[in-house]
Amino acid sequence: MREIPRPDYEYEIAHLVSAYKRAVSDILRELERLDLTDISRAQAQAALAEVARILASLNEESAAWVAANIPKAATDGVAAAIFALGVAETFEEARSIAKFNRMNRAMVDAVIADTQADLLAVTQNVERKVRAAVRQVTADSMRANMARGVNGRRTISRDILDGLRKKLGDSVNTGIVDAAGRRWRPEVYVDMVTRTKTMEAHMEATINEGVAREAFYGVISRHGATDACRNWEGKVVKLVPDAPGNYPYLGDLRGGREIFHPNCKHVVTPVRKPVE
Ligand SMILES: [Zn+2]
Repeated sequence: MREIPRPDYEYEIAHLVSAYKRAVSDILRELERLDLTDISRAQAQAALAEVARILASLNEESAAWVAANIPKAATDGVAAAIFALGVAETFEEARSIAKFNRMNRAMVDAVIADTQADLLAVTQNVERKVRAAVRQVTADSMRANMARGVNGRRTISRDILDGLRKKLGDSVNTGIVDAAGRRWRPEVYVDMVTRTKTMEAHMEATINEGVAREAFYGVISRHGATDACRNWEGKVVKLVPDAPGNYPYLGDLRGGREIFHPNCKHVVTPVRKPVE
Protein backbone atom coordinates (compact mmCIF):
# COMPACT_ATOMS: atom_id res chain seq x y z
CA MET A 1 0.00 0.00 0.00
CA ARG A 2 1.23 3.49 -0.88
CA GLU A 3 0.62 5.90 1.97
CA ILE A 4 -0.61 9.30 0.86
CA PRO A 5 1.44 12.36 1.84
CA ARG A 6 0.07 14.10 4.92
CA PRO A 7 -1.73 17.30 3.82
CA ASP A 8 -0.14 20.35 5.40
CA TYR A 9 -1.70 23.79 5.16
CA GLU A 10 -0.11 25.21 8.33
CA TYR A 11 1.64 28.04 6.51
CA GLU A 12 -1.50 29.20 4.70
CA ILE A 13 -3.65 28.84 7.83
CA ALA A 14 -1.17 30.81 9.95
CA HIS A 15 -1.28 33.57 7.34
CA LEU A 16 -5.06 33.93 7.53
CA VAL A 17 -5.11 33.62 11.33
CA SER A 18 -2.59 36.46 11.58
CA ALA A 19 -4.88 38.62 9.41
CA TYR A 20 -7.65 38.06 12.00
CA LYS A 21 -5.28 38.84 14.88
CA ARG A 22 -4.20 42.03 13.14
CA ALA A 23 -7.83 43.07 12.56
CA VAL A 24 -8.70 42.42 16.21
CA SER A 25 -5.79 44.55 17.43
CA ASP A 26 -6.62 47.31 14.88
CA ILE A 27 -10.19 47.38 16.20
CA LEU A 28 -8.98 47.46 19.81
CA ARG A 29 -6.68 50.36 18.96
CA GLU A 30 -9.57 52.22 17.30
CA LEU A 31 -11.74 51.72 20.39
CA GLU A 32 -8.94 52.82 22.73
CA ARG A 33 -8.76 56.14 20.91
CA LEU A 34 -12.30 56.98 21.99
CA ASP A 35 -12.25 59.74 24.62
CA LEU A 36 -14.58 58.17 27.15
CA THR A 37 -14.52 61.21 29.45
CA ASP A 38 -16.34 63.21 26.81
CA ILE A 39 -17.54 60.99 24.01
CA SER A 40 -19.79 62.39 21.29
CA ARG A 41 -22.14 60.44 19.04
CA ALA A 42 -20.18 61.68 16.03
CA GLN A 43 -16.95 60.31 17.50
CA ALA A 44 -18.62 56.97 18.22
CA GLN A 45 -20.01 56.84 14.66
CA ALA A 46 -16.59 57.55 13.18
CA ALA A 47 -15.03 54.74 15.23
CA LEU A 48 -17.73 52.29 14.16
CA ALA A 49 -17.25 53.24 10.50
CA GLU A 50 -13.55 52.46 10.86
CA VAL A 51 -14.35 49.12 12.53
CA ALA A 52 -16.70 48.27 9.64
CA ARG A 53 -13.94 49.14 7.16
CA ILE A 54 -11.40 46.89 8.94
CA LEU A 55 -13.87 43.98 8.96
CA ALA A 56 -14.89 44.46 5.31
CA SER A 57 -11.27 44.27 4.23
CA LEU A 58 -10.80 41.16 6.40
CA ASN A 59 -13.86 39.56 4.73
CA GLU A 60 -12.30 40.24 1.35
CA GLU A 61 -9.02 38.63 2.37
CA SER A 62 -10.87 35.61 3.81
CA ALA A 63 -12.94 35.11 0.67
CA ALA A 64 -9.80 35.13 -1.49
CA TRP A 65 -8.12 32.68 0.90
CA VAL A 66 -11.01 30.23 0.78
CA ALA A 67 -11.34 30.48 -3.02
CA ALA A 68 -7.64 29.59 -3.39
CA ASN A 69 -7.05 27.08 -0.60
CA ILE A 70 -10.13 24.84 -0.58
CA PRO A 71 -9.65 23.89 -4.28
CA LYS A 72 -5.93 23.40 -3.56
CA ALA A 73 -6.68 21.00 -0.70
CA ALA A 74 -9.19 19.14 -2.90
CA THR A 75 -6.64 18.88 -5.73
CA ASP A 76 -4.14 17.40 -3.25
CA GLY A 77 -6.88 14.96 -2.20
CA VAL A 78 -7.54 13.85 -5.79
CA ALA A 79 -3.79 13.51 -6.39
CA ALA A 80 -3.51 11.44 -3.20
CA ALA A 81 -6.02 8.91 -4.54
CA ILE A 82 -4.33 8.79 -7.97
CA PHE A 83 -0.95 8.23 -6.31
CA ALA A 84 -2.23 5.70 -3.75
CA LEU A 85 -3.87 3.61 -6.48
CA GLY A 86 -0.67 3.51 -8.51
CA VAL A 87 -2.02 5.51 -11.47
CA ALA A 88 0.96 7.88 -11.23
CA GLU A 89 4.53 7.13 -10.16
CA THR A 90 5.03 10.16 -7.92
CA PHE A 91 2.73 12.45 -5.99
CA GLU A 92 3.93 15.39 -8.14
CA GLU A 93 2.95 13.53 -11.29
CA ALA A 94 -0.42 12.67 -9.71
CA ARG A 95 -0.95 16.34 -8.90
CA SER A 96 -0.22 17.36 -12.47
CA ILE A 97 -2.97 15.08 -13.83
CA ALA A 98 -5.48 15.63 -10.98
CA LYS A 99 -8.86 16.95 -12.18
CA PHE A 100 -12.18 17.35 -10.37
CA ASN A 101 -14.83 14.85 -11.42
CA ARG A 102 -18.50 15.86 -11.19
CA MET A 103 -18.78 14.77 -7.53
CA ASN A 104 -15.68 16.72 -6.59
CA ARG A 105 -16.74 19.87 -8.43
CA ALA A 106 -19.99 19.92 -6.47
CA MET A 107 -18.16 19.09 -3.21
CA VAL A 108 -15.60 21.89 -3.66
CA ASP A 109 -18.35 24.45 -4.32
CA ALA A 110 -20.20 23.31 -1.20
CA VAL A 111 -17.12 23.38 1.07
CA ILE A 112 -16.17 26.85 -0.24
CA ALA A 113 -19.68 28.12 0.54
CA ASP A 114 -19.64 26.53 4.03
CA THR A 115 -16.23 27.93 4.90
CA GLN A 116 -17.14 31.41 3.64
CA ALA A 117 -20.30 31.33 5.78
CA ASP A 118 -18.38 30.20 8.89
CA LEU A 119 -15.76 32.92 8.49
CA LEU A 120 -18.36 35.58 7.72
CA ALA A 121 -20.16 34.62 10.94
CA VAL A 122 -16.98 35.57 12.86
CA THR A 123 -16.74 39.11 11.50
CA GLN A 124 -20.51 39.66 11.69
CA ASN A 125 -20.44 38.60 15.32
CA VAL A 126 -17.53 40.93 16.14
CA GLU A 127 -19.25 43.81 14.35
CA ARG A 128 -22.55 43.26 16.19
CA LYS A 129 -20.86 43.00 19.60
CA VAL A 130 -18.64 46.05 19.04
CA ARG A 131 -21.58 48.13 17.77
CA ALA A 132 -23.66 47.25 20.84
CA ALA A 133 -20.76 47.94 23.21
CA VAL A 134 -19.93 51.34 21.65
CA ARG A 135 -23.58 52.36 21.81
CA GLN A 136 -23.85 51.34 25.45
CA VAL A 137 -20.55 52.91 26.47
CA THR A 138 -21.50 56.16 24.74
CA ALA A 139 -24.76 56.28 26.69
CA ASP A 140 -23.02 55.34 29.98
CA SER A 141 -20.37 58.01 29.45
CA MET A 142 -22.95 60.71 28.68
CA ARG A 143 -24.97 59.76 31.76
CA ALA A 144 -21.88 59.79 33.97
CA ASN A 145 -21.02 63.25 32.62
CA MET A 146 -24.49 64.60 33.41
CA ALA A 147 -24.34 63.17 36.91
CA ARG A 148 -20.84 64.32 37.80
CA GLY A 149 -22.04 67.69 39.28
CA VAL A 150 -24.32 65.78 41.64
CA ASN A 151 -21.55 64.03 43.53
CA GLY A 152 -19.23 67.01 43.38
CA ARG A 153 -16.72 65.41 41.02
CA ARG A 154 -15.44 67.27 38.03
CA THR A 155 -14.51 64.19 35.99
CA ILE A 156 -15.80 60.66 35.50
CA SER A 157 -14.27 58.36 38.12
CA ARG A 158 -11.39 56.04 37.27
CA ASP A 159 -13.60 53.03 38.13
CA ILE A 160 -16.29 53.99 35.66
CA LEU A 161 -13.72 54.67 32.93
CA ASP A 162 -12.04 51.31 33.53
CA GLY A 163 -15.43 49.59 33.36
CA LEU A 164 -16.22 51.29 30.04
CA ARG A 165 -12.82 50.35 28.61
CA LYS A 166 -13.29 46.75 29.65
CA LYS A 167 -16.73 46.61 28.01
CA LEU A 168 -15.21 47.77 24.72
CA GLY A 169 -12.30 45.34 24.90
CA ASP A 170 -14.52 42.39 25.78
CA SER A 171 -16.80 43.11 22.83
CA VAL A 172 -13.95 42.37 20.38
CA ASN A 173 -12.82 39.20 22.15
CA THR A 174 -16.07 37.52 23.23
CA GLY A 175 -15.72 35.30 20.20
CA ILE A 176 -18.16 32.92 18.68
CA VAL A 177 -20.25 30.03 20.01
CA ASP A 178 -20.32 26.98 17.72
CA ALA A 179 -23.16 24.50 17.12
CA ALA A 180 -21.92 22.36 20.05
CA GLY A 181 -22.08 25.37 22.41
CA ARG A 182 -18.31 25.79 22.71
CA ARG A 183 -17.01 29.36 22.85
CA TRP A 184 -14.00 30.29 20.70
CA ARG A 185 -11.92 33.45 20.50
CA PRO A 186 -12.17 34.78 16.90
CA GLU A 187 -8.66 33.82 15.78
CA VAL A 188 -8.79 30.39 17.46
CA TYR A 189 -12.12 29.71 15.76
CA VAL A 190 -10.73 30.78 12.37
CA ASP A 191 -7.75 28.47 12.90
CA MET A 192 -10.07 25.52 13.71
CA VAL A 193 -12.52 26.23 10.85
CA THR A 194 -9.84 26.54 8.15
CA ARG A 195 -7.92 23.50 9.40
CA THR A 196 -11.07 21.38 9.55
CA LYS A 197 -12.42 22.55 6.18
CA THR A 198 -9.15 22.05 4.26
CA MET A 199 -8.93 18.52 5.72
CA GLU A 200 -12.58 17.91 4.81
CA ALA A 201 -12.04 19.06 1.21
CA HIS A 202 -8.93 16.88 1.02
CA MET A 203 -10.63 13.76 2.39
CA GLU A 204 -13.84 14.16 0.38
CA ALA A 205 -11.80 14.62 -2.79
CA THR A 206 -9.70 11.51 -2.03
CA ILE A 207 -12.81 9.40 -1.39
CA ASN A 208 -14.67 10.65 -4.48
CA GLU A 209 -11.66 10.05 -6.71
CA GLY A 210 -10.97 6.67 -5.08
CA VAL A 211 -14.55 5.44 -5.47
CA ALA A 212 -14.64 6.66 -9.10
CA ARG A 213 -11.56 4.45 -9.63
CA GLU A 214 -13.27 1.50 -7.94
CA ALA A 215 -11.40 1.64 -4.65
CA PHE A 216 -14.19 1.03 -2.14
CA TYR A 217 -12.01 0.70 0.99
CA GLY A 218 -9.55 2.89 2.82
CA VAL A 219 -6.86 2.57 5.48
CA ILE A 220 -6.64 5.17 8.26
CA SER A 221 -3.20 6.78 8.58
CA ARG A 222 -0.90 6.34 11.60
CA HIS A 223 1.14 9.02 13.31
CA GLY A 224 1.13 7.76 16.87
CA ALA A 225 -1.95 9.70 18.01
CA THR A 226 -2.52 9.81 21.75
CA ASP A 227 -6.19 10.85 21.70
CA ALA A 228 -9.19 8.60 20.96
CA CYS A 229 -8.05 8.45 17.32
CA ARG A 230 -5.27 6.02 18.31
CA ASN A 231 -7.73 3.09 18.33
CA TRP A 232 -8.39 3.70 14.65
CA GLU A 233 -4.86 4.02 13.31
CA GLY A 234 -4.19 1.49 10.52
CA LYS A 235 -7.82 0.28 10.49
CA VAL A 236 -9.66 -0.56 7.28
CA VAL A 237 -12.89 1.31 6.56
CA LYS A 238 -15.46 1.19 3.76
CA LEU A 239 -15.66 4.25 1.53
CA VAL A 240 -19.19 3.32 0.44
CA PRO A 241 -21.73 1.80 2.87
CA ASP A 242 -22.63 -1.24 0.73
CA ALA A 243 -19.09 -2.48 -0.02
CA PRO A 244 -18.79 -6.15 1.03
CA GLY A 245 -17.04 -7.07 4.28
CA ASN A 246 -17.40 -6.36 7.95
CA TYR A 247 -15.68 -2.97 8.12
CA PRO A 248 -17.01 0.27 9.56
CA TYR A 249 -18.29 2.80 7.03
CA LEU A 250 -16.11 5.92 6.96
CA GLY A 251 -19.18 8.16 6.71
CA ASP A 252 -20.39 6.89 10.10
CA LEU A 253 -17.04 7.66 11.78
CA ARG A 254 -16.78 11.21 10.51
CA GLY A 255 -18.30 13.89 12.64
CA GLY A 256 -18.27 11.46 15.55
CA ARG A 257 -16.29 11.75 18.78
CA GLU A 258 -13.71 9.03 18.22
CA ILE A 259 -11.92 10.14 15.07
CA PHE A 260 -12.11 12.88 12.43
CA HIS A 261 -12.93 15.45 15.10
CA PRO A 262 -12.15 19.16 14.54
CA ASN A 263 -8.37 19.64 14.05
CA CYS A 264 -7.90 15.87 13.45
CA LYS A 265 -4.88 15.08 11.25
CA HIS A 266 -5.83 11.57 10.19
CA VAL A 267 -6.25 10.80 6.51
CA VAL A 268 -7.56 7.77 4.64
CA THR A 269 -5.62 6.04 1.87
CA PRO A 270 -7.95 4.44 -0.71
CA VAL A 271 -7.30 0.76 -1.48
CA ARG A 272 -9.01 -1.70 -3.85
CA LYS A 273 -8.67 -4.69 -1.50
CA PRO A 274 -9.24 -4.46 2.24
CA VAL A 275 -5.92 -5.46 3.85
CA GLU A 276 -4.85 -4.29 7.31
ZN1 LIG B 1 -7.16 12.11 14.54
